[in-house]
Parts: sequence; C-alpha cells; structure tokens
Amino acid sequence: MYRRTLIGLLATTAMTATLVVGTAATVAPQATADVGAAVVTITYSDARAGEFKDAVAQGVAVWNANVTSVRIQKAASGQRADVQVIADPGWPRATLGPVRPGGSGTVWYGREAVADGYNLVRIASHEFGHILGLPDIKPGPCSSLMSGSTGGVSCTNVNPNASERNRVQSIYANGFAPTATNTVVIG
Ligand SMILES: [Zn+2]
Repeated sequence: MYRRTLIGLLATTAMTATLVVGTAATVAPQATADVGAAVVTITYSDARAGEFKDAVAQGVAVWNANVTSVRIQKAASGQRADVQVIADPGWPRATLGPVRPGGSGTVWYGREAVADGYNLVRIASHEFGHILGLPDIKPGPCSSLMSGSTGGVSCTNVNPNASERNRVQSIYANGFAPTATNTVVIG
C-alpha cells in the first residue's frame, strides 16, 4: 500500500507469524453463549495519550459495546494500569495481546496516521484490537477493523466485524488463560 513500504513489510511479516500461532486457537462463533460468564477487566491509562484522550475513550467504548467477556476500564488516578496509551510521533502500533489483568501492554498512538487523515477513533479501536489479541488482517476492506490503514484513509468504520468480535469474545471467555507475549504490531 501507499508509501510505507518498509512498515508494510514488517506488518506483513508480523501478521504471518501471528497467524501461524492463531490457527491453533479455536474461535467460538457464538458470542451470546458467553453472556453471564466471568468478565475479565483490564485497565488502561491515558495519562500520556496527549490530545488523543477522547479518541481513546471512544475506541475503548467500541470494544465494551461489542464484547461481553472482557471489559476495558480507565484506571483510577494513581492505580496501576494494564495498558498504557502513549501519544507518539511515529506510526500507530501496539502490543499484540491478549493482555491479561495484571499484564502489560502499550498502545503508541502515532501522529503520522493522524497527519495522513485516518479516522481517530478507528485508530484507537484498531490498536485496542491488538491489545485484545487480534492480529492485523491486511489488506482488507473498511468493514474489517483489523484491516487498519488498508481499509482506506476515508474509512470511518470503528467497529470490529463479526469474526473479529467473536474472536475476542472467545479469547477472554470463561476466565481467560493468559499467554505471555511481547510482540509489537506495527500499524
Ligand atoms: Zn494493526
């Protein structure tokens, strides 16, 4: 895609590696069947999110509206947060989760994509998709949240599609078995 050839290659490499791992996981298609199960709560801090605090809050709200097995809450002042959101001059990127309660993840909210004109809330919900364990699915259509920038600069869809929603629902269902990961996904 466009001018970020190196980044695109890196992202593709990361995606391929992740998909190999991902194929071992079974995706439960019925999100509603998990209603009533234990809800996993992870916290985030926007103390370093600069001018993107509102976009981050909206991106988090997207996930809270789309899945029931995990809830993302803003950490109280002085409380340790599982996820740090940091405004950054580069391209947006994030830890590839799933981040667990007490775990550690980072979203770098890159101003480069903002300067290019990408939707602010979609950037946030996409990067939190990584935090929740979703790899990039690139290239892809605007209807896919994890298609990221390949959905087009004019794409304003902030919501995961059914497949993306169900995968996160499944990852955090029934208490969540944590998997350590320190991979950073670019884009
Ligand atoms: Zn991405």
